[in-house]
Amino acid sequence: MNVAIIGAGATGLAAAHDLLKAGHRVTIFEANDKPGGLAAGFKMPHWEWSLEKFYHHWFESDADVLKLADEIGARDRVIFKRPVTVSYWNGRFYPLDSPAAALKFPGLPLAAKIPFGLAMIYLKYLTSNWRALERYTAHEWASRWMGRQAYEVIWQPLLEGKFGDLYQQVNMAWLWARIKARSTRLGTFVGGFQAFFDALAARVQALGGIIQYSTRAEELRIENAESKTWCVRTLSQFSILNSQFDVVLSTTSPRLMAKLAPQLPPDYLSALNALQSLGAVVVIFALDRQLDRQGYYWHNLPKSAGFPYLAMCEHTNFVEAEHFGGQHLIYCGDYLPTSHPYFSMTEGELRDAFLPSLAHFNPQFDPSWVQDAWVFREAYAQPVPFVNHSRHIPSVKTPLPGLFFASMSQVYPWDRGTNYAIKLGRETAAAMLAG
Ligand SMILES: Cc1cc2nc3c(=O)[nH]c(=O)nc-3n(C[C@H](O)[C@H](O)[C@H](O)COP(=O)(O)OP(=O)(O)OC[C@H]3O[C@@H](n4cnc5c(N)ncnc54)[C@H](O)[C@@H]3O)c2cc1C
Repeated sequence: MNVAIIGAGATGLAAAHDLLKAGHRVTIFEANDKPGGLAAGFKMPHWEWSLEKFYHHWFESDADVLKLADEIGARDRVIFKRPVTVSYWNGRFYPLDSPAAALKFPGLPLAAKIPFGLAMIYLKYLTSNWRALERYTAHEWASRWMGRQAYEVIWQPLLEGKFGDLYQQVNMAWLWARIKARSTRLGTFVGGFQAFFDALAARVQALGGIIQYSTRAEELRIENAESKTWCVRTLSQFSILNSQFDVVLSTTSPRLMAKLAPQLPPDYLSALNALQSLGAVVVIFALDRQLDRQGYYWHNLPKSAGFPYLAMCEHTNFVEAEHFGGQHLIYCGDYLPTSHPYFSMTEGELRDAFLPSLAHFNPQFDPSWVQDAWVFREAYAQPVPFVNHSRHIPSVKTPLPGLFFASMSQVYPWDRGTNYAIKLGRETAAAMLAG
């Protein structure tokens, strides 16, 4: 087969890898100038490692990442550490990322910790029946089985922060998957996630794959349904090109897929357009010193306490600052609908809106500590799964012959993640090979 893949993110690269290994021809069209998609990074001249535009880490349960890293000879560059995740309660931060930490947490009496602990054990170790759980909202299931108080103190702020007005509609399978996959040790790649995707892209090219960067797919059109000839119209800096392929895999957002391939039948198009998601906004500050002196990595923040974002993540409390020229890197991130003002504010306005809140993490904080700042925004960042979501997911094999679609919205019940993108990419490649 002569295959076109739209997108050199985790899904597209993983699919390309397997198709090439099976002896097919693959051309990837990537709008960006490098691989990695949402997990891509950037590097300042004085940094040794790249930094992800959006905070990224792996869990020990990310078996598909580890397997692919092994296959491309990069497994020894995946490293796991034990950074600390904390939640804000009553004006202070408390670790809540292990059973021992939960036992010590003062925000819940022992009587509330018992049903909470039992429900967590059930979800993490005793059930894999997510289909039974997706019939309930996380709000109703968790407040019933974990206890109202534990739900209100622990899960409600997280759900509310992540899904905003939609938080009471997210299904319980989503929360199950988060609890199931989470490990206390977190992983990264020597050199940053960008280095992993550079290695994967290099492997794809070594297998004979062509990656055309800075080339945007504008239209996917079937010219002849009988002979299954696909025309991919692309726009690069230099030219508009129409190229022909036997099979096409698109790894874009569902909305964009609906626009790229308007020949899809109305049912499939409306399934794509019905999928809901939130955007992400991240401001990264580079400081000349550590912000959280306790060394905590991930800070969950309740919006009710007045934080202007959902999470503060001190990357250099996970990966040493020496890899970034001694700079201390702070992500302030949030998930929001694209209609939110954070998507229309200028970068300077966003930086100014987020900066004063850094004093919550260190009362001595002074704006003169800030050496640099970057803003990243993405419209398609977090799929929102409602009750019985599995019935509404479009299949990767579209009704048009030879056209496949694979995105974050289809890794359900798992939450989005590079591990599940790789798994989906490989499963899609297998479906393409099966015809
Ligand atoms: C804020 C945030 C935090 C995250 N944290 C983690 C984490 O800690 N760990 C983890 O594993 N995952 C995390 N993820 C999820 C992870 O980034 C994604 O699940 C994964 O990168 C998705 O890969 P993908 O290939 O499906 O999509 P993408 O990464 O979106 O790749 C799609 C590619 O298609 C390209 N493209 C789009 N349109 C076109 C077009 N018309 N023509 C050509 N190319 C096009 C894009 O440029 C992109 O490169 C996070 C995501 C976000 C947003």
